Amino acid sequence: MADIHVAPHLIDGKQTAEDIKVEIAAAVVKLTATGQRPPHLAAILVGHDGGSETYVRNKVLACERVGYDSTLLRFEDDITEADLLAQVGALNDDPAIDGFIVQLPLPKHIDAEKVIEAIRPDKDVDGFHPMNLGRMVAGLPALLPATPSGIVELMARQGIKTSGQHCVVIGRSNIVGTPVSILLAKNLETANCTVTLCHSRTKNLAEIVRQADIIVAAIGRPEFVTADMVKPGAVVIDVGTTRVTDANKKSGFSLKGDVNFAEVAPLASRITPVPGGVGPMTIAMLLLNTLRAATGAVYPKA
Ligand code: NAP
Repeated sequence: MADIHVAPHLIDGKQTAEDIKVEIAAAVVKLTATGQRPPHLAAILVGHDGGSETYVRNKVLACERVGYDSTLLRFEDDITEADLLAQVGALNDDPAIDGFIVQLPLPKHIDAEKVIEAIRPDKDVDGFHPMNLGRMVAGLPALLPATPSGIVELMARQGIKTSGQHCVVIGRSNIVGTPVSILLAKNLETANCTVTLCHSRTKNLAEIVRQADIIVAAIGRPEFVTADMVKPGAVVIDVGTTRVTDANKKSGFSLKGDVNFAEVAPLASRITPVPGGVGPMTIAMLLLNTLRAATGAVYPKA
């Protein structure tokens, strides 16, 4: 992997996320110098899913790095929906908590939508609450979903031209594909794309993706995007992170993106690696949302 990280056309999400964390840490120092307490992020983790454990651990570690307080609340996967909703209510009411996340996926007996809707919008630092999604669509200040806003921020900071470009997004989930397609179509200098949103029912998918100046792949199918689907010179943003068995890794698995990197990288003008592309940006944007929640930047504090 060492050669990948020096390739000039690689989009280094890890470094960009580090830059953002340094900026956030400086903002925290300023905040605490005025006598305010540091921002406080809480995370609810239900069960023992390996991926979720890793994501939450990384989020908590990132909080420490920028000087936030963090609280991790763990529950077994037999917690009832009512008990989980009560925990959400307690975090909503706790003035010492600025923002919190409920790590997804949740066990099948819990209605994730109900849990998300129970989170107070001004503490919804994942940006999944319908109030935040609605405000985002309307172009009003909102806590934006972290992965989509991370993709926009990554392209902006890497100097990737988006205005007027045709962006094909593959995948229409509420947490990645749909919101990123909306953000990229906004009348903003860091967006202004012409967006096509594809999904599992899209006809002639390869033909459509081949027309893209920018491809955002968010489907969760390892190496789905192959060279024949990519116009030479396209920018390729790979959101996919699927765990696949890998006997060469101590952990026993490695992360695979939705793009066949070996085939597509030589064609692309810029491309994100997996890992080290979009993933670190998601955490950086979660931290940024927490700072915005703590300072009342979106929803003024009462
Ligand atoms: P999801 O909820 O499972 O949605 C997948 C989307 O892909 C759906 O819209 C689905 O279409 C579409 N799709 C599936 N197979 C397809 C095919 N053959 N052709 C066209 N479209 C297809 O997934 P998600 O939560 O958006 O996550 C997608 C990937 O991103 C996963 O690997 C996930 O781990 C990763 N992810 C990474 C980060 C990060 O920080 N790096 C954050 C979030 C997610 P239908 O709607 O028609 O079913």
